Amino acid sequence: MALQQVTILGATGSVGSSTLDVLARHPGQYNIFALTANNSVVALLELCLRFRPIFAVMRDESAAQALEAELKRQRCDTTVLAGNEGLCHVASCAEVDTVMAAIVGAAGLESSLAAAKAGKRLLLANKESLVMSGALFMETARSNGAELLPIDSEHNAIFQCLANGAAGHADGVSKILLTGSGGPLRTLPLNELQSVTPDQACAHPNWDMGRKISVDSATMMNKGLELIEAKWLFDTSPDKIEIVIHPQSTIHSMVQYVDGSVMAQLGNPDMRIPIAHGLGWPARLASGVDALDLVAIGQLTFEPLDRARFPAVALAEHAANALGSISIGLNAANEIAVDSFLRELIRFTDIPIVIEAVLDQTEEIETPTIEHILSIDTESRQKANEQIKKLAKSR
Ligand code: NAD
Ligand code: MG
Repeated sequence: MALQQVTILGATGSVGSSTLDVLARHPGQYNIFALTANNSVVALLELCLRFRPIFAVMRDESAAQALEAELKRQRCDTTVLAGNEGLCHVASCAEVDTVMAAIVGAAGLESSLAAAKAGKRLLLANKESLVMSGALFMETARSNGAELLPIDSEHNAIFQCLANGAAGHADGVSKILLTGSGGPLRTLPLNELQSVTPDQACAHPNWDMGRKISVDSATMMNKGLELIEAKWLFDTSPDKIEIVIHPQSTIHSMVQYVDGSVMAQLGNPDMRIPIAHGLGWPARLASGVDALDLVAIGQLTFEPLDRARFPAVALAEHAANALGSISIGLNAANEIAVDSFLRELIRFTDIPIVIEAVLDQTEEIETPTIEHILSIDTESRQKANEQIKKLAKSR
């Protein structure tokens, strides 16, 4: 069989690195076509020298020029592109079979959509693109014959638990049980939440991830975004998706059927499992992850969601049940609030306050076009920044 050509959007990140790790285990099956990064020239240079992709893409023109000069000096003939145009090009090139969408946040929207439009096998880690453009995204993938495979571990688990392994309506499903560990702050005394530091919020007990999704896990907005993600991926109403806290992160989610059967997918908490699943599907590929040792884990426990501790979940539930545009405001406000928290401009407990204020002002549109999506995203970011200034002034 010919080598499968793979583009990795966000190759220098946590999911990007795990993807390269799995691919490197199967050199006879995959070839790396393109690698992309935000602004770290050094990190992308190292990857280019190792994997020799046809294309590399940097966010800014100046970083692209610096990378190009260094590659030339080191006699590597990778072509360097820049910006969203470059990202969309390597996501949709005719030679490409598979695209891993692993850019963090709204910055990944247009390139993920470009891969869907080009009918690629699309391994979707960038959940924010689905939160922002759910209806448009699913329709784009469907009408262009893209193979959309969820990489978010919960959604990959749900996909595997659906009877035929196919996304979309599965007969006889009564509920999706979306599991979440509860993050690093699940048992912290409530009165200490407001003084949580960025490093504390990023110290996830089970998963090693980028800083934005780590903070999302600490607020549990991550589970809220995943609720919206599941609604679109599996064409399910939000009231059929139940969040269950499972601190060990061994079960990655479950599907309950009308006869009372519950299917679960288990594994060590390592993103190489869903990545290998998406790359190989319907075949199975070795991922490099250790076999699950249930006896060593000993106990699997479950708890209800603590809604008082995690107000962000209710905000996401509200968005999941509202018109499509509300989720754009939710996502944009969350990105700004998380970034401000990481830069120590606001407190941990300010994050949901900022988001709620923006949600109240988000324009309501049922099925927003890409132009609506981009403009609501920009407006919501401005509103979130105004809210953050107000909070700072009031202290
Ligand atoms: P990360 O911060 O480790 O990596 C992000 C990647 O995107 C990097 O390569 C970075 O250079 C690139 N990037 C960032 N901003 C960019 C911009 N403006 N333009 C172009 N490129 C940009 O993030 P991550 O933890 O790997 O997460 C990536 C995505 O996968 C997120 O959407 C996250 O929610 C999702 N996800 C991650 C995990 C995980 O275990 N890390 C699990 C499930 C889902
Ligand atoms: Mg997840």
